[in-house]
Amino acid sequence: MTDCLFCKIAAKEISSSVVYEDDLILAFKDINSVSPFHILIITKEHYRNILDVPDEKLINIMKAIKKIAKEYNLDESGFRIVNNCGNDGGQEVDHIHFHMLAKRSHSWPPG
Ligand code: AMP
Ligand code: ZN
Repeated sequence: MTDCLFCKIAAKEISSSVVYEDDLILAFKDINSVSPFHILIITKEHYRNILDVPDEKLINIMKAIKKIAKEYNLDESGFRIVNNCGNDGGQEVDHIHFHMLAKRSHSWPPG
C-alpha cells in the first residue's frame, strides 16, 4: 500500500531497527518504547488488521513470536503480546502489527 508507514518500513524505504526478518514477517523496535524490550511484529504484506489477515498467514506471526522469544531469552522471564484492533482497540497504524513487550513486569488490566 503506497501511503502506509509500515509498508514503507517493510520495504526499507523508512529505516527501522530490525530484530527479526523472514520472507513474510518483519519485527522492529517500536520508536516510542514503553518497555525495555518493545518491538512490533508485522506482515510484510499489507493487511489493515487481524480480521483482514488470512487465517493461514496468522500462524507466520505466531511462529515469529516464538522464534524471537527464544532468540532473546524471553522464554523464562515471559513477555506480553498486544494487538490493538480498530478505534476501540486504540490502533493508530492501520497495518497489522503485534506489540511484544518484555524485560519488565506488566500489570493487568491495561488502560
Ligand atoms: P498502535 O497504537 O497499536 O497502532 O501502535 C503503533 C505503534 O507504532 C506505536 O507504539 C508507535 O510508537 C509505533 N511507531 C510509529 N511510527 C514508528 C516508526 N517509524 N518506527 C517504529 N515504530 C513506530
Ligand atoms: Zn501497510
